[in-house]
Amino acid sequence: MGPLPLIFMAALLAAPPDAAGVPAELVLKSAKIWTGDAARPEAEALAVRGGRIVAVGSDAEIAKLQGPSTKVIDAKRRRVVPGFIDCHTHMSMGGLDLLAMDLRKTKDPAEFTRIVAEYAKKQPPGVWLTDGAWDHQQWTPVRLPTKADLDPATGDHPTCLSRQDGHMMVCNTLALKAGGVTRDTPDPAGGVIVRDEKGDPTGVLKDTAMELVSRKRPDRTLQEIAAGLRAANKHAGANGVTSVQDLAGSSLDVLGWDALRLNGELTVRVNYRPLLSTWPKPLETKASIPNDEWLRIGGVKAFMDGALGAGTALMFAPFDDDPGNTGVAMPESEGMEERIAKADAAGMQVEVHAIGDKANAQILDIFDRVAKKNGPKDRRFRVEHAQHLRREDIPRFAQLGVIPSMQPYHAVDDGRWADRKLGKERAKGTYAFRSLLDAKASLAFGSDWDVAPLSPILGIAAAVTRATIDGKQPGGWVPEQKISPEEALRAYTVTAAYAAFEEKEKGSLEIGKLADFVILSDDPLSVRPEAIEKIQVDATVVGGKVVFENQNQNPNQK
Ligand SMILES: [Zn+2]
Repeated sequence: MGPLPLIFMAALLAAPPDAAGVPAELVLKSAKIWTGDAARPEAEALAVRGGRIVAVGSDAEIAKLQGPSTKVIDAKRRRVVPGFIDCHTHMSMGGLDLLAMDLRKTKDPAEFTRIVAEYAKKQPPGVWLTDGAWDHQQWTPVRLPTKADLDPATGDHPTCLSRQDGHMMVCNTLALKAGGVTRDTPDPAGGVIVRDEKGDPTGVLKDTAMELVSRKRPDRTLQEIAAGLRAANKHAGANGVTSVQDLAGSSLDVLGWDALRLNGELTVRVNYRPLLSTWPKPLETKASIPNDEWLRIGGVKAFMDGALGAGTALMFAPFDDDPGNTGVAMPESEGMEERIAKADAAGMQVEVHAIGDKANAQILDIFDRVAKKNGPKDRRFRVEHAQHLRREDIPRFAQLGVIPSMQPYHAVDDGRWADRKLGKERAKGTYAFRSLLDAKASLAFGSDWDVAPLSPILGIAAAVTRATIDGKQPGGWVPEQKISPEEALRAYTVTAAYAAFEEKEKGSLEIGKLADFVILSDDPLSVRPEAIEKIQVDATVVGGKVVFENQNQNPNQK
């Protein structure tokens, strides 16, 4: 074949950057993209316009969409994945925790007092100080803090600060006074008022005794909640989290999120789920805001039971370390079926917290009956945690189309002590990622932040290694339930989007979807499993805008 006719060459050179003739706003090139799209699992480059992906392909293909004003990100051969989607967060609580005093690492009571004093000075007069956890086991000498450690530091601020396990707190004199706690106050059932040798309260209140003071604390203001959400929004970007399915933390959450959206501050997309127990209020909440790609009310959340650590997970048989105790059914589980049926009929997705094997079996039964009663439709009921399952309940998730929404980090945390409560045999059905996937369930992942770290990298590492965080089970707790890095990544992206009816917009990097993606320092799909937890988020892009950049990245070393 001879040279192309000149006129044809000219036409090629003048060809518009794409069909619409407008160059891309952003081009990502030289990347190892895991797209999550079965039709094209890997790509080198993609182009973005109007916050959405307009092309995915090779560097050469995408270069054609580059114009003079196009921003170009050179990934330098690093791994790029769809923005992580966290199916289970408590963002306002997490954000408030980020803003609080950091007392966990204090070495002694004097340092504790000093940090509280510095913080108190910066607060508006008279406000309560209640955020900032401590751990006296880190102190030399080990002793509980007292009101005498707080009073010189806290001025006119009533103060009560929790120990990091949440089972006790220390109050200053003002807070004790507000709660009416004196030497004459008896210990409430299930609680202890710690006293000195003269019988006076020292300031420490345990378990139900904490209520005496905490119920006097004024409700948080919208300003406080919005400040927490702002901090949480930033934390999400730093962790590569581009979307959250956020669960009722405060009644002001939705107002707070909406304020951030109005200010143009949102860099994480929020699919919010108020409490089913307040039905039909969630319908009003949904109608009270515009529901768009940044903020929407996506469903409702309810509770069947408590938690394993507290011995309140609802089980068929007693805990091994607590004969006679089979856990607790939440009061709202009474009448829940009717409320679920109503929410489902009104088109609200329903997700229910269930930890114990009996709580899980019961909620699957309820979902089954409601689906039969209300008739067939795409409803995607969810079980949050789905933590301990009987063997015969595992296939029911796929059969009923119920999504197990699970948090792998809890497995490597609980795995330190859960055998003691469950026994080896029952432990086989805990955090049963492998069995659920093998049974064709749509496994979706999240963190449960601020109960566990927000980082999806830590979540993926936990699902792949199941190595407990105390380092004592490096081969993995219940190792037969490990899954592959790609399966874990899918649960944090593709399936997490599906779990909130958002698979048409996000979860994979395909033409038409939102341009939410993350550049990682290393490739979770190819490094040794033990190395996954060390991977850093180098950059986070949401809607085609860089919302986070790691200042310590060094792609050339990778
Ligand atoms: Zn939670």
